Amino acid sequence: MSILIKNVLHNNQTTDVFIEDNKFSRIAPNMKVEADKIVDGSNKAILPAFYNTHNHAAMSILRGFGDDKPLFEWLNEDIWPIEDQLTEEDIAIASRLAILEMIKSGTVFFADMYFFGEQTIQAVADMGIRAAISRVEMDLFDEQKFEQKKIDTANFIEFSNPCPQRIRKCLSCHAVYTVSDELFKFAKETAEKQGWFMQIHVSETKQEVDDCFAKWGMSPVAKLDSLGLLTPKTILAHAVHLSDEDIEIIKKRGCYISTNPISNLKLNSGMFMFEKMYKIMPENITLGTDGASSNNNLNMLDSIKFCSLAAKAESNSALGGKADDIYKVATINGAKAFGLNAGEIKEGCLADCLLVDLDNVFLTPNYNIISNMVYSADSSCICDVICDGRLIMENGKVAGEKEIINNAKKLAEKIKNMKK
Ligand SMILES: [Zn+2]
Repeated sequence: MSILIKNVLHNNQTTDVFIEDNKFSRIAPNMKVEADKIVDGSNKAILPAFYNTHNHAAMSILRGFGDDKPLFEWLNEDIWPIEDQLTEEDIAIASRLAILEMIKSGTVFFADMYFFGEQTIQAVADMGIRAAISRVEMDLFDEQKFEQKKIDTANFIEFSNPCPQRIRKCLSCHAVYTVSDELFKFAKETAEKQGWFMQIHVSETKQEVDDCFAKWGMSPVAKLDSLGLLTPKTILAHAVHLSDEDIEIIKKRGCYISTNPISNLKLNSGMFMFEKMYKIMPENITLGTDGASSNNNLNMLDSIKFCSLAAKAESNSALGGKADDIYKVATINGAKAFGLNAGEIKEGCLADCLLVDLDNVFLTPNYNIISNMVYSADSSCICDVICDGRLIMENGKVAGEKEIINNAKKLAEKIKNMKK
């Protein structure tokens, strides 16, 4: 499969982009090559697509289900009682809804932490994007649940990945307040043995940090480090409440951080120290949406804007969260965190990209396309999305959209009648 994009704006110049198999093969003006598909790029710009490094995709089906509450209250009263009743089939429907939303807003990769990961993997395989999918490890310090998690994880290891080129299985631990030391150790050994990436929620709220000190006499970061869980293959979600000692540990271990500004603002968890952390580890800060029930969407365009604005507010400076830095965090850094040679429009890189409409009102005038994308654009600006050398959205349309929406609506009716 090959695609030739003709006369597209790239780095302020009009050029052609030739994609062969799943890579950018050549970028040059007026190319004369044979291609399976020609895309007219005139009045469009080509840009890196987004890599969402923290998500609970299937939670999209709980969008708007219990809002305006603090984290622990919201989890205990609204989310966990319903999640206990969701079936594998429900997760399949919900995952497709989430992936549709992600594609329509320019995302080509997401890191997922949820349950029934096998269903999410199948949805990713069918819909053409990339993902790192995990089944969440969480036992609430209950021995029976710990034993069940070991069985679930063994089954997940056995599950045959239908598309290893785009999908990698990984492991996630929920948080220090929901995972026993035994389960953390089991997760660490499993991730090492399988060579998997690991995602963990850490220091999301001040309460989490205070409780961890009260119970274990150390911060959540120090606790995870004491268990050997912090490595260059660990992605720490949130990391809002960090001490200087925590930052030192994270830097030394080479972990990545996924900041989730919208979720943190909505749950009033605090603000990530973007400017400070970006100066310390400019390659290791990445961006995520978190699940759609605490965001309430999976639109990285919203998240890049909030990331920048939150960085300005938190650092008390209009120089905080510069557009170029934020776009890099949402693209190259996110890809790198999961070992992908992607996130740039560059020969040899994986062919993931967006084509945006330069006639769209939100991109007019176009003095600076990255500034427009971070501060002005909405998803109506995105016309085409290419992932792994395949057009997964063409002229704003994704295959099977209608059926995905109808199935999600039916499932929402069922959820409305579930007991909380
Ligand atoms: Zn999360």
